[in-house]
Amino acid sequence: MFIDKAKISIRAGDGGNGAVSFHREKYVAAGGPDGGDGGRGGNVVFVADTNLSSLIGFRYKKRYAAENGQPGGRKRCSGKNGSDLIIKVPKGTVVRDAETGRVMADLSDGEPVIVARGGKGGWGNTHFATATRQIPRFARPGFPGERFDVEMELKLLADVGLCGFPNVGKSTLISVVSAARPEIANYHFTTLTPVLGVVRLDAETSFVMADIPGLIEGASEGLGLGHEFLRHIDRCRLIVHVVDVSGVEGRDPIEDFEKINEELRRFSPSLSDRPMLVAGNKCDLAAPEQIEAFQAHVEAAGYRFFPISAATRQGTDELMQVVAAELAKLPPIVRYEVEEPSEAERMSAVRKNQFTVEKVDGVFVVEAEWLANSLAGVNMDDYESLQYFQRVLVQSGIIKKLEEMGVQEGDTVSVLDFEFEYVP
Ligand code: GDP
Ligand code: MG
Repeated sequence: MFIDKAKISIRAGDGGNGAVSFHREKYVAAGGPDGGDGGRGGNVVFVADTNLSSLIGFRYKKRYAAENGQPGGRKRCSGKNGSDLIIKVPKGTVVRDAETGRVMADLSDGEPVIVARGGKGGWGNTHFATATRQIPRFARPGFPGERFDVEMELKLLADVGLCGFPNVGKSTLISVVSAARPEIANYHFTTLTPVLGVVRLDAETSFVMADIPGLIEGASEGLGLGHEFLRHIDRCRLIVHVVDVSGVEGRDPIEDFEKINEELRRFSPSLSDRPMLVAGNKCDLAAPEQIEAFQAHVEAAGYRFFPISAATRQGTDELMQVVAAELAKLPPIVRYEVEEPSEAERMSAVRKNQFTVEKVDGVFVVEAEWLANSLAGVNMDDYESLQYFQRVLVQSGIIKKLEEMGVQEGDTVSVLDFEFEYVP
């Protein structure tokens, strides 16, 4: 089974908490603060792997998390950074934020892309010692890592896409002009996965051709396989439309040609505007009048026509020469522009599912897993530590949520073990 779409949840590591600790030595009464910083949370990184050809690996495993940073230790020991999580995908995979549709990465080359960033580690209490506060009994919690639901889509990277009805000879054509060896058989739907072949004309000239299978009538409405595969031609710079001119299967070449064009148009206008050459295949079986009639139709519609016979290799080299010449005039393969997230999106990625606020008997109850970690480093008796705690509530969006829920001055807010009165 060929899987070219998948949705997963990714989660970067949380930063480790800073430590509260004081220097201690035999015979030395009270030392200064020596709590180390927390480690950074691991990133979630995507990288293209040329050994992969589908997204099938993501069919069952849906959740991916990078390692959290370790908390800081005594004696200024920093916590260990969390390791990055590397997610390998086939080349040409486009990663989007499932919520907004924003393009997060296009894995078209070997460059790894950080899609979710790990949280920074918190500062240990050594950072908070000042002349007037020599015993800082608090440290900073680590920042939560980003979380996203992402949609992955494999969009093949080919210069040329072959399209046409089943059995017209697409697989045969790619097998005679490249080293690709797709299945060739005299029945429909033999090819279930797109096949890529490199066509090498000489030392300097080569291009990648894709055999796009299963384009059938009604494909653009999602009937049959076609629709799934149409998006693979999406990136192709040039389309070679293969038509069986012999009509051996009892079909009409002109009708076939128009139907496929209609499918392309319905799928996307940009696809029907894509430069296209028309290859009339199985000329070895066709009468000259058949070929001429079809050629006249194609040329009247404004396309260049090439009579070939893939099986006997007539005209195939000439066609490849023209394809190379056309490609030389065309812009390179489309890369998806990666859109940087806005600050608000980053914030929401960090907060996502990370706290809930419920109103129980007039009390606003805040639940947040990461906040438990954060509060470990906070000392509620210390004014500055409390201020820090309040900043966390603001920055994490909890206060905003409380306000949305209609919190009033004097209402009780409960956060884990702490309760306080809301003051705007
Ligand atoms: P696809 O479904 O478009 O990939 O078509 P295939 O390449 O699998 O070919 C379907 C059938 O047509 C196979 O039996 C091929 O041998 C045959 N075929 C392909 N090209 C030619 C050709 O130029 N001449 C003849 N006579 N048969 C061909
Ligand atoms: Mg085929």
